[in-house]
Amino acid sequence: MKQNTNSKSLANVKSHLVAECFNKLFIGGQFVDPIDGEKIPTHYPATGEHLHEFPWGKAKDIEAAVAAAEAAWKQGAWASMAAAERAEIVARMAQGIEDNVEMLAEIEAADVGKPFRQAAMAIGGAASEGKYWCSLGAALDAEQDAPVNSGGGEGGVPPAEWDVVYRRDPIGVIGLISAWNYPLNVAFRKVAPALIAGNCAILKPSEIAGLSCMFIGKLAQDAGIPAGVLNVVTGDREAGAALATSPSVSMISFTGSTLTGSKIMEACAPKLSQVALELGGKSALVVFDDTDLDRAVETTIKGFLTNGGQICTAHTRLVVQEGLKAPLLNKLKEELEKIPFCSDPITEKDRGDRAWEAGMTDVVQPVVCESQHKKILEFLDEAKAEGVQILTGGGVPDAATVGISGGYFIQPTVLTNMTRDADVWQKEVFGPVLSVRSFSTEEEAVLEANSTAFGLASTVMSSDPAKAMRVANRIRAGAVYVTSTGEGILAEHPAVSRGGFGCSGVGRELGIGGLHEYTELKSVNYTGFSLADAKK
Ligand code: NAD
Repeated sequence: MKQNTNSKSLANVKSHLVAECFNKLFIGGQFVDPIDGEKIPTHYPATGEHLHEFPWGKAKDIEAAVAAAEAAWKQGAWASMAAAERAEIVARMAQGIEDNVEMLAEIEAADVGKPFRQAAMAIGGAASEGKYWCSLGAALDAEQDAPVNSGGGEGGVPPAEWDVVYRRDPIGVIGLISAWNYPLNVAFRKVAPALIAGNCAILKPSEIAGLSCMFIGKLAQDAGIPAGVLNVVTGDREAGAALATSPSVSMISFTGSTLTGSKIMEACAPKLSQVALELGGKSALVVFDDTDLDRAVETTIKGFLTNGGQICTAHTRLVVQEGLKAPLLNKLKEELEKIPFCSDPITEKDRGDRAWEAGMTDVVQPVVCESQHKKILEFLDEAKAEGVQILTGGGVPDAATVGISGGYFIQPTVLTNMTRDADVWQKEVFGPVLSVRSFSTEEEAVLEANSTAFGLASTVMSSDPAKAMRVANRIRAGAVYVTSTGEGILAEHPAVSRGGFGCSGVGRELGIGGLHEYTELKSVNYTGFSLADAKK
């Protein structure tokens, strides 16, 4: 078994973390210490070893960051630039991510416990998604003063003597509160559109794993983002709550749990600030018995085990047709028990020649931290007490199997024999846990898929396209994947808007609609003279 003390890989990551941006808050264009001078410790999930201590920003630090953003907003230079000009500056930040993929991936591997290769793919994705956002700068400019010439129904066209146009204005000072599971991706997916739309912002990354997000402050400084336009304050829920309640903050864009999303909405209600909420999920994989068995097993594993099950769209509910249930579960158990644990995510660079998508579940990574580990085990204990059956897994692997001790590992777990109202069917576990129920008819498949309060994603697998489409169209989720092969499950394309039904969220991200979330739509109604007159 490996020694746990300061492995070479961890020492390498620590050498990245001495840089100023990983040790200070970024406020008003400067790297500064938190007012109280306190720090939050963080640990390597594979071994529990100490990784780093980052600044503990509190309400007072948020106040300073909001004041800096408000000053930049009132000064007005950023908002008055063309979106395409702002996008050119943000593109330098995206390039900065691309230039530092290796370092950032090592940091995320150490901070989240994500295998390096997956972290590198995700961070490379953040850079290319950033470039996509930047390409929308010109599209946003082209929408300014677009004539309102199609009113839709009868009488829907504005009167001929009016010249009516739409504009999209920035909202103002915006709080961006992000989650830890894909730290840089989640954060930059907010930072890029918020800035391109012309807002001034404060980013508050997660205290559980947010080190890679601190690099965004340096990227902003290097790219020449004006002082105060983007601020980065690390801290815990106190900092997040201070941001949500601040009277100067006109919008919160949040990614995290449904419980916190609801608190944020409540905090924003008295001042009627806008909210964009990307929340939790309990996505269903519906498998009809005409699906190829191997494809179904592979898709099931990928759907619930990618990133250790710590993905909002993880397909953690398997809804399988009776005829395929026994063979699928047998094969699933057999395959899951073969997957090795990832004892050193930082050095998990390559496991051979499997395609990336298949490779996503080549190894079982640790869960992110001790408290998540405890929470998942509590879910499992409760399920066992309620008579839920464990097909495989169900606990902590022994250190000899993992190859290292002290980490936050959990066996990939498959649960069967639960009622529809059981917690493991209804609640988000956010770990490597799959719950299984079966169905006979198409009607039952829809009922099972729609049987939780969430509605983030879902996949329908069948070799019958018409049947798959009928079911997909009745599923209440923001993204539905229809497939006979399993390809595309969990896929995100930057041009495709996504978001949640029900308890999975409010608003949509990605695509032009995702950029519009960071704007206010305004109509300008000219009478007596036209817009063309005004522009002369
Ligand atoms: P979380 O809700 O615990 O924390 C998210 C962020 O909110 C953190 O930065 C935290 O400090 C902050 N926060 C906590 N309490 C707050 C409060 N009262 N006011 C303001 N801010 C507060 O979530 P998490 O554990 O970091 O992330 C996991 C959750 O995120 C899962 O539910 C997952 O499904 C969800 N998620 C959703 C998406 C999506 O796109 N829908 C993407 C990734 C993660």
